[in-house]
Formats: sequence, structure tokens, C-alpha cells
Amino acid sequence: MVRNRQGRTRLSVAREMAEELTSFISLLPGVKAVETAGSTRRWKETVGDLDIIAGAENPEILLAALASHPRVKEVINKGDNRIEVMTWWGIAVDLSVVTPAEFIPAWHRATGSKTHYLILQEIAKYKGLKLNHRGIETQEGKVVDLTSEADIYRSLGMEYIPPELRENRGEIEAATGQGLPKIISGEDIKGDLHIHTTWSDSAMEIKDVVNKCLEKGYSYAAITDHSRSLKVANGLELERVLEQHQLIRQMNTSLKDFTLLTGVEMDILPDGSMDFPDELLEQTDVVIASVHTGFRQSKQDLTKRFTRAMENPNVDIIAHMTGRVLGRRESYELDVEALIEMAAKTDTVLEINASPDRLDLNEEHTRMAKEAGAKLAINTDAHDVRRWMKWSMAFLLPGGLVSPRGCNQYP
Ligand SMILES: [Zn+2]
Ligand SMILES: [Zn+2]
Repeated sequence: MVRNRQGRTRLSVAREMAEELTSFISLLPGVKAVETAGSTRRWKETVGDLDIIAGAENPEILLAALASHPRVKEVINKGDNRIEVMTWWGIAVDLSVVTPAEFIPAWHRATGSKTHYLILQEIAKYKGLKLNHRGIETQEGKVVDLTSEADIYRSLGMEYIPPELRENRGEIEAATGQGLPKIISGEDIKGDLHIHTTWSDSAMEIKDVVNKCLEKGYSYAAITDHSRSLKVANGLELERVLEQHQLIRQMNTSLKDFTLLTGVEMDILPDGSMDFPDELLEQTDVVIASVHTGFRQSKQDLTKRFTRAMENPNVDIIAHMTGRVLGRRESYELDVEALIEMAAKTDTVLEINASPDRLDLNEEHTRMAKEAGAKLAINTDAHDVRRWMKWSMAFLLPGGLVSPRGCNQYP
């Protein structure tokens, strides 16, 4: 079972499953198009079930094939052009089959969100048009020819809105007015400031990290292994950190067009003091401060703990601030708003942790940080190459309007 207690599945898992099933369906006879819709397509942090839309003349072939797919445990519901199944993964899949001509508008509607779509319908009405799963109809009942979703938005007098922004959080106003912000993509990422190695609790050697970074065309990366108090993660004693930093500086001299930075992910101790002395932090390129233990403190104490870290001029970045682990652990009790203000005031960078089970800061806090003028860094917190490669870039912004300015700045 991959679902958590609330019956939600992590986006990374949902997308892998959706990919497997859509590529299976795409090979069936008569299939002209098949795509994932719903919250999976909108890059929500977690999803309830998988929505798949296919365009084909003969729905029965697709419905029968999915019903007997080895991943499927049982059929929950079956109609003429729609089937709902429960998979062995523990996540339900809803497949709708429409005619190839209706595929684009049906896919668009099934992508949602509901409120985003409802507002588009209102706008259509205002313009004397009708928007539904068949497409856009004029008052005379003529269906507007659609070759892409962009045509739908164009017909309504607005810029194309990508799925991850379709949440009715200002995107419609932006798409009709001043324009949408650019969504950050993999090409915008020039480096990574939070990476673990075999020196603490990761499966990657420093040289693996360097090779991967070069492969990705990065220009810098920081090695940030855990500090001494985090014994469960093999946190480094002072002498080991010094040894590692010396090695990194040495490696860096032989690298061209790439800077390997020294770093540390240092625990903020329960009383708000730092796990390493200032003398070490002063000579470290990237100092990340974070909390991994003792987070059952009161909201006031935890907030104070983070505040003290931000006030330390040697602390560059606060990592995964709210501490949530999707499906496993809620955020700490924190005054996030006050901490965001403090980050802006002390020029401390806040991290968007791209690890699929963290995605922390979330969309709401990221927006808040941007509005407060705090700097943001998008880091992977990678512990192994696979996850790093596969997901790091995919999770940059889980929906919402955030301009790339200020992101991933070298502190
Ligand atoms: Zn951490
Ligand atoms: Zn980390």
C-alpha cells in the first residue's frame, strides 16, 4: 500500500503509476490519445486517485484491457465509456474514454481544478460562448475547432495557463491581465546547495555528486552532510568536517567551470544553539541550519529556536523549515509568518526542499516568502542518485504563482 492514513498518495508515486498505465493504454488498438488528468497533472503534493482520459472510437477495448491489467485488483464501477478500478498499489484509477474529437476539451475539464474550470465557464458565458467537455460552442451552436488546450484559453481571451497553476489563486486574473510568471524549469537550475554523501547518511560519494552535477550542466554544488549531534544520520564530528572540507577544496582546484563548495547541514539544538562553533561555520561556504530532533517543543520555543539560528550571521540557509514529511508527519508547531519576516530581515535564505516527501516550504509559504522579500533556494537534499535525477527538477513549484527571481541564489 502506498497510501497514507488520509488515503492520499505522494505525487512522485502517483506520477510513476500514471506513467505505467498510460503507456500501457497508449499501445491498445484504436487509441489516438491518452493522458493523465486531475491533481496528478496539476502537480498537487498528494493525490486521491488517478484520473486518466483517453481518446478512442471503441471504449470497450480500453475498459476491458484495464480491468484485466495485472496491477488491477478489482473493478469498482464500469459504464459504457468509463471504468473505475482499485489497483494493488492501493490507489483507485478512473479511466474515461471519449471520442478523439472530444479529447482536448475532456482532458482539460478532467484536469481541473473544479473552481478554475467553473470560472472559465463563467467567462465563456460572459463572452456568449459555452465551455463544456465537448469544447467551446458559439451561440449558434457551432463548436470551435480545438487542437490544443491553448486554443481554449485563447478563445476566452487569455494566455495559456499551465496545469500546475490552475487552482484559482490569481492565475486567471494574471492570464487576462499583466501576464503569468514564468514557471521554473530544470534549465533554470544552476546548482544545488543541499546534498549528502557517504560521509554521513547518503549512498553517493563526493565524486558521484560532482559527476552528476557536471552531467546536469550545473555550475556549483555544496556538499552538506549532517552535523555531529545527529547520530542516527551518522553526523560528522568536528575533525571529520575539517577533513572533508579540506578534501573538497582540493577537489575544487581540479574542476573547470564548476565550483564545489564546502558545507554542512547543522542541527539547531533544542536550546537554539548551534551544533558547531562559529570558528568552523565562518570558514564554511554554505551553512544550512535545520531541525531533526526535539521538535515536540511549544510553538513559541520552536520559533525562538529557528530565530536564533537566523540571527547567527554564519547561517546561510534554513532547510525544510516546517519539518513536515508528507503522509507521515505534520509540520512542527511554528510561527511560519514570523520566521519568514525574520528570514527577510536577517537575509537568511529559505529552502524549497525538492525531496518528494517534503516539498517544504509549500506553495503558500513560498508565496509568503516572496512577498516578504526573503530569498529562496531550491535544493534537492539528495541522498541517492536515482531520486535526485528523477525528481529534483520536477517538484520545483507545486502550483501557485511564484516568480523565479530570488530562487536558488548563491548565498
Ligand atoms: Zn535535513
Ligand atoms: Zn539534508
